[in-house]
Amino acid sequence: MHVKNLIIGAGPTGLGAARRLAELDENDFLVLERSGHAGGLAASFRDGAGFTWDIGGHVVFSHYEYFDRLVEDVLGDEFLEHERIARVRMAGGWVDYPFQNNLRQLPPELAWQCVRGLLPENRPQAKPRNFGQWIDHVFGPGIARLFMRPYNFKVWATPPEEMAFDWIGERVSVVELAGVLENLVLGRADAAWGPNRTFRFPLAGGTGEIFRRMADRLGGRVRYNETAWKIDAAKKLLLTREGGTYTYDNLLSTGPLDKLVLELLDACGGELRNAARALAHNSVYVAGVGVDGLRNDPTCWMYFPEDAAPFYRLTNFHNYSPRNAGRPGASRALMAETSFSEHKPEDTAKLMDKTIDGLVNTTMMHGEERAKVLSTWETTVEYGYPVPTLERDAALSVLQPWLAARNIFSRGRFGGWKYEVANMDHSVMQGVEWAERMVLGTAERTYTVEEHERCNNVFRAA
Ligand SMILES: Cc1cc2nc3c(=O)[nH]c(=O)nc-3n(C[C@H](O)[C@H](O)[C@H](O)COP(=O)(O)OP(=O)(O)OC[C@H]3O[C@@H](n4cnc5c(N)ncnc54)[C@H](O)[C@@H]3O)c2cc1C
Repeated sequence: MHVKNLIIGAGPTGLGAARRLAELDENDFLVLERSGHAGGLAASFRDGAGFTWDIGGHVVFSHYEYFDRLVEDVLGDEFLEHERIARVRMAGGWVDYPFQNNLRQLPPELAWQCVRGLLPENRPQAKPRNFGQWIDHVFGPGIARLFMRPYNFKVWATPPEEMAFDWIGERVSVVELAGVLENLVLGRADAAWGPNRTFRFPLAGGTGEIFRRMADRLGGRVRYNETAWKIDAAKKLLLTREGGTYTYDNLLSTGPLDKLVLELLDACGGELRNAARALAHNSVYVAGVGVDGLRNDPTCWMYFPEDAAPFYRLTNFHNYSPRNAGRPGASRALMAETSFSEHKPEDTAKLMDKTIDGLVNTTMMHGEERAKVLSTWETTVEYGYPVPTLERDAALSVLQPWLAARNIFSRGRFGGWKYEVANMDHSVMQGVEWAERMVLGTAERTYTVEEHERCNNVFRAA
């Protein structure tokens, strides 16, 4: 079968591309999805006790008018709007997020350690070369030791010295000494930073409801349980594991870029394969714990830099929508995320027990509530976060031009491998802008990598 625009993956990127192609009346397209459902990492699941879970707490916020309209179009008025309330667990108490703006909530000795570290003479002044040095340079040794280093290692499961820091942009709230001191001395609350101050959430069905509905509107042009298996770039031919044969003009791949090069494509040279191997990712274990009984706690999510819990983040998912809880208004849906990698191994078989212990250690559950657990749900995603390592951009500048020269475009969270544009809104827009490029010839804006094919000695075989 010949398809003009063939799309691998019915996650936000693939669905964004398909929707935009249809809007532009370019209807010769097909989406192949290896699983039986739409949404990818943004899918949601309902367990046997009636709790709904995301793959980690997803908040729907947006940098794009198109994405806002899309959410309104598919959900109508079936969404809730929330103000972010986020906290950091520290020294047996809670500090409002952003941590450095709310040091007044720390025990005085720890607050002083943070402030002392921020004094210019205590911060390394040399230009940072990696994320670890950037943390010390910007935050000083106090905040680095208490929060930034342990928290980031728990999330990324990667030594910060192996990571770049040019991805940070609006992802990390940086710090200004005068403001920190003003908040501390005047006892002022300051929790308003950042792009996700307010966010939306579907009334029912979890985050995945958005993508379920987007996919439904595409009807038969999403083919489930079809796995892209082998690609012959020269012949523009794709075979699926289930026996399908497709030829295409343009191919959009939204699965992991390293797998595309190392497993799907035939005839990739050593330089390309080395570049693909240089891409790093972590894995994430998500535990959903449904507990009988509601608490008067409006917090949306919490960060856990300390060892008292294995998870780096916990979401009060019942606060996003009461319908996420098995017994709305009478039970809590606690969702915890723990990352792992070769640098930070975890035995996932033990993580549910460790998660529940962590909930008790951090007061999110009382000890006696162990007997009130109504449901446990778990999932492990092999590809959780695309890690912005020091080699990433050089690797992308080898891989993407080679692919583009063969009408293969790899986009999305792991297709593009750029964490700074890897949220749902970015991913949908990567798909939308790719579709516009194919039909209208316009330039992509969200995902950019130089597309001139060039050799990069870094990845040449020795
Ligand atoms: C723990 C966690 C928390 C997150 N929190 C947020 C948040 O709060 N807000 C936010 O905006 N975003 C969040 N995200 C990011 C969000 O999930 C992603 O932006 C989005 O899902 C990426 O969409 P995608 O289509 O690029 O990739 P994916 O969601 O990975 O979708 C790719 C799809 O391709 C399919 N596929 C892969 N290989 C093949 C193949 N060979 N053949 C056929 N199909 C294939 C997969 O099955 C999948 O359905 C979070 C992600 C994680 C992991």
